[in-house]
Amino acid sequence: MGSEAVKVVVRCRPLNDREKALSSRSVLSMDLQRCQCFIEKPSAVDEPPKQFTFDGTYFTDQTTEEMYNEIAYALVEGVTEGYNGTIFAYGQTGSGKSFTMQGVTEPASQRGVIPRAFEHIFESIQCAENTKFLVRASYLEIYNEEIRDLLGNDTKQRLELKEHPERGVYVRDLSMHTVHNVGECERIIEQGWRNRAVGYTLMNKDSSRSHSIFTIHLEICNMDAAGHDHLRAGKLNLVDLAGSERQSKTGATGERLREATKINLSLSALGNVISALVDGRSKYIPYRDSKLTRLLQDSLGGNTRTLMIACLSPADNNYEETLSTLRYANRAKSIQNRPRINEDPKDALLREYQEEIKNLRALISGQLGSANLSTLLAGQLSETSADLPSRPQSSTTEAEKEKIKEEYEERLAKLQADYNAEQESKAKLQEDIASLRSSYESKVSNLEKAQASRGSTVPKNDNIKLSAHEEPSSMSSSCEPDLLNLSSAEETSLTKPVVPSAEVGVHKDQRGDGLANTNEIPTAEPLDQKHVLERLQQLEQEVVGGEQAKNKELWQKHRQRRNLADQRKVQLLRALSENSEESENVLFNVYNSIQEEVHAKSQVLVKVQGKLKAAKLEIRDLQAEFEVERNDYLATIRRLEKEGQLLNSLLERMVPLVRRDCNYSNLDRLKREAVWDEDNAAWRLPDVMVQKTTLPSAVHPKSSAGRGSATECGEAFMMEEDRYKEMLDRSDSENIASSYFKSKRTSQLLGGDTAKGHGKTRIW
Ligand code: ADP
Ligand code: MG
Repeated sequence: MGSEAVKVVVRCRPLNDREKALSSRSVLSMDLQRCQCFIEKPSAVDEPPKQFTFDGTYFTDQTTEEMYNEIAYALVEGVTEGYNGTIFAYGQTGSGKSFTMQGVTEPASQRGVIPRAFEHIFESIQCAENTKFLVRASYLEIYNEEIRDLLGNDTKQRLELKEHPERGVYVRDLSMHTVHNVGECERIIEQGWRNRAVGYTLMNKDSSRSHSIFTIHLEICNMDAAGHDHLRAGKLNLVDLAGSERQSKTGATGERLREATKINLSLSALGNVISALVDGRSKYIPYRDSKLTRLLQDSLGGNTRTLMIACLSPADNNYEETLSTLRYANRAKSIQNRPRINEDPKDALLREYQEEIKNLRALISGQLGSANLSTLLAGQLSETSADLPSRPQSSTTEAEKEKIKEEYEERLAKLQADYNAEQESKAKLQEDIASLRSSYESKVSNLEKAQASRGSTVPKNDNIKLSAHEEPSSMSSSCEPDLLNLSSAEETSLTKPVVPSAEVGVHKDQRGDGLANTNEIPTAEPLDQKHVLERLQQLEQEVVGGEQAKNKELWQKHRQRRNLADQRKVQLLRALSENSEESENVLFNVYNSIQEEVHAKSQVLVKVQGKLKAAKLEIRDLQAEFEVERNDYLATIRRLEKEGQLLNSLLERMVPLVRRDCNYSNLDRLKREAVWDEDNAAWRLPDVMVQKTTLPSAVHPKSSAGRGSATECGEAFMMEEDRYKEMLDRSDSENIASSYFKSKRTSQLLGGDTAKGHGKTRIW
């Protein structure tokens, strides 16, 4: 199993209006060919700029499209083959993380990595042959070390992290949403963004303070030439991290400071994980230090291909943050992952679906004797069963037509918008429009043809012979070709009648298959054919893949993008190896004359001396930064100590006020019994317990002999408690001492009942 390094690219945004108004200077420059990035120290222009090399450098003019095609494309493509992938954006607030991940709609070349990944994944799915996919999405946010489901029913609910020997770290109860196309993905992510925005307004926070992870989970079923199925699973995490600025710089106080400390904690935990992984000597990797690092555990040193996009601001007043981001990114380059295809996933939902489909087919074929299941599935149910509501072919076709038309119009509108924005790609876009139109027309004509052929060639059921793989007796994995062989648009549309509850893209359910409540299939007695068939159709609708396998144009476009990404990879490798070989060549070259050799070598010497100087400056700067960071941590420790002291003093004052028969009156014992819950990063405290011990009453021997004595005593006790509470409430405005004695005296004089209570008060 080979290992591969985390890929790291840097992206610099242009100076913004505010920076321009302040006449900020740009301190960043890049050599795009050699993937090098240079940063000058604003206060020391005579010092050589610091230099970093990455897997890609993108300056102010480069677009997200270029970046995606060059570096992200291969990673996302890998996910459709069964690898895990993670793309995360890192950088200070306002450096362009969301711009890179979510992007803008105008211009189209700056659409973000997330929408591009959707399109890419569905393009691959549609072009795939003999392969079916189950695609699900989830979206969560980590705010103040608490995980929230942005697509769940209750977005305020805190979710827990769990660890499973096979699944690894996962979020319990995170909702999963089945998606069938790009449009559904977009709707889902918009819903998440809306929920995030609502949360911000309610809690007075902003997006720079939370980390968000959008995940696309793929289950892939590929049928080989021999007709055997192979299951794989891949997932793509798209991460938008919180801003990485240092708390001392933001000048935050109070709640904001606490928040910032938590953000910094998870980001510094991320930094520590990176350091430990890169160090090579440390056996212990502190993944458990934060929720973020636990969730990204597999992406850092695990079974995932990872791309980090470090976003940079070029302005001189952001020099420190930009340098710190560059250092962070530079370290991340050395992390080694071990990505492998996830073969035969144990908990694959797709397998469950297939088994259910198999059972349903066996069930219904057994019941219907020689009835042709395929014909039934194609919507000919009305001929065999009078119970079933007839689904007129024309309305099915109409609905399909409508759907295709909607899809067509939606995409056409998008293409038109692109067209306006990008005049230079006019010709290409027109081509796209034409191909879209022809695909629309072919889909519609296919539908019409299918309808016509069904109208004329539906044979009577008793005349139909089941084909070999449809025999109930041979309903093993070989029955799946019916499900998995459907590759053309026509066939797919035939197996997709309109089932009311099949709108699963926007349907929420915890299991995530969108089918949770339709699972009960009657197994005995008169078989509810309608129910079974509907379930079968629903299940078949859940999977997607191969719809455009015969669309040569799309396939070629897909291939081209793939080749482009491969070519770019080769170019990058060459550029990176050139960087390291340059100086070695000078040393091993054969020279014609001594002078030439001296000249060449002295040039190398000058270069090396420059490097030495730069390295010395780097050591000095690092030490200075380390000092700043240390002071930051010390300030945090002092603040936490002060807070701890305050809480301790409060407790010491309060403990004597707790009744002594309650376990919370003994602080030392409580501390001993408290347990640290690693999973939730919280203390589990013992339950509050009151041990009721009834003292023999010296005042009323009669009543103590009675059966109700304990209860009475308890009641009196409670009354006494209430009285204390009242007194405490009044204590601000009244003289406690005088009123205490006064009321007691009065009650003693007025009634004998309080005598019991009097006995108790002595305990306190
Ligand atoms: P972050 O998410 O890191 O806090 P944003 O993505 O919100 O930052 O970017 C801050 C601002 O900078 C936004 O107005 C965004 O449009 C702009 N911006 C960021 N990157 C670029 C870029 N590469 N080109 C043009 N504008 C950019
Ligand atoms: Mg942002």
